[in-house]
Amino acid sequence: MRISDPNLIGRLTELRVELRQGAKLSELTSLGIGGTTDLLRITKHETIPDLLQLLDANHIPNKFLGGGSNLLVGDGELLWVVLQLVPPESDVVLEGNFAHVDAAADLGRTVTFCAKRDLGGMEGLIGVPGTVGGALRMNAGAYGMQIGSYVREVKLYRAATRQIETLRGHQISFEYRHTSFAPDDMMLAVILELPSKTYNEILKGIRICNEKRRSSQPLGQKSAGCIFKNPPGASAGRMIDELGLKGLSVGDVRVSDRHANFFVNAGHASAKDMLALIADVRERVQKAYGVALENEVVVWNA
Ligand SMILES: Cc1cc2nc3c(=O)[nH]c(=O)nc-3n(C[C@H](O)[C@H](O)[C@H](O)COP(=O)(O)OP(=O)(O)OC[C@H]3O[C@@H](n4cnc5c(N)ncnc54)[C@H](O)[C@@H]3O)c2cc1C
Repeated sequence: MRISDPNLIGRLTELRVELRQGAKLSELTSLGIGGTTDLLRITKHETIPDLLQLLDANHIPNKFLGGGSNLLVGDGELLWVVLQLVPPESDVVLEGNFAHVDAAADLGRTVTFCAKRDLGGMEGLIGVPGTVGGALRMNAGAYGMQIGSYVREVKLYRAATRQIETLRGHQISFEYRHTSFAPDDMMLAVILELPSKTYNEILKGIRICNEKRRSSQPLGQKSAGCIFKNPPGASAGRMIDELGLKGLSVGDVRVSDRHANFFVNAGHASAKDMLALIADVRERVQKAYGVALENEVVVWNA
C-alpha cells in the first residue's frame, strides 16, 4: 500500500513520522520473506493517538512491526502499511533494580546492558532476536524463563480507548507465548524489576544458554525461530522429528536438519511456500498424533 496524498504526507511530517516508501519486508524480517509496502517510523510516542486517527480517517490499514523475528509476511504488494517505533538514543535507563526500557530497544542488547550492571534474570533471553516490545507481546522465553516474570509496568497505546495508558504488572497475564494484551495494543515502554547478580554469575548463565542454542538451532540460517507452539506436555519439534520430516521442503523453504520446529529460508523462499510447508507438517502431525499444532510464528497474509 502506498501513501501518495501530499496532504497526508505533510501531516505525517508534522507528527514527526518518517515515511519510507516501498519498504521491502523481506529485508526487515529474519525469515527474509515478505512483500513491499510503506513503512512509517514513529519517533515520538505522544503522536501515536493522532497518527492512528489520521490513518483511520484515510482508511489506511496498518500493522505493527518490532524486529521482525517472529513474522511470516505475505508476498507481493501488501494491503497495509507498517508502523515501527524508532528507539530513542538512550533506550534503557536503570534505577536500582528497575530497568526502564523503550519497547523498540533490542532485546539482546538490553539483557547485556543490564548484566554489565549486575542485573540478571534474563539470561535465557540472550539469543532471542527482536525488540523488547516484541518479546512482551509474545511473552518471549527460553530455558525455563520468560520476560513476563520481570514486568512491573507497561506503557502502551490502546486502540480500544485510543489513548496511551499504563498497566501495572498484576493487570497483565503472561502465559506460555501468550499475553492478555489486546491484539491491537501497542507496547511503548516497560519497567522490569531484575534480581541483583554479579556480572560473572550472569555471564556463566548466558554462556550456557548460548551453547545450548548453538548446538540445537540453525543459527546461521534465515528463520523465525519456532514455527509452532509446543502443545501442553509435548514438544512440537520432537513430534516433527519423530515423523522423519527434517529436510522436508517446499520450494526454498525446508524443515531444518538441526531443529525440526525451525523452518528455514534456504534461498529465495516465498510466503506461499512457507505456508504450504506449515500446512503439510501440521496435517501430518495431526494425523499421526491427533494434535492440532498452533502457530507460534505470526502470519501477516491478509
Ligand atoms: C533464531 C531465532 C531464535 C528464536 N528464539 C526464541 C526463543 O528462544 N524464545 C522465544 O520466545 N522466541 C524466540 N524467537 C522468536 C522471536 O525472536 C521472538 O518472538 C521475539 O520476541 C519477537 O520480537 P520482534 O520484535 O522481532 O517481533 P516481530 O516479529 O516484529 O513481531 C511479532 C508480533 O509482535 C507484535 N509486536 C512487535 N512489537 C510490538 C510492540 N511494541 N507492541 C505490540 N506488538 C508488537 C507484532 O505486531 C507481531 O504481531 C526466535 C527467533 C529466531 C529468528
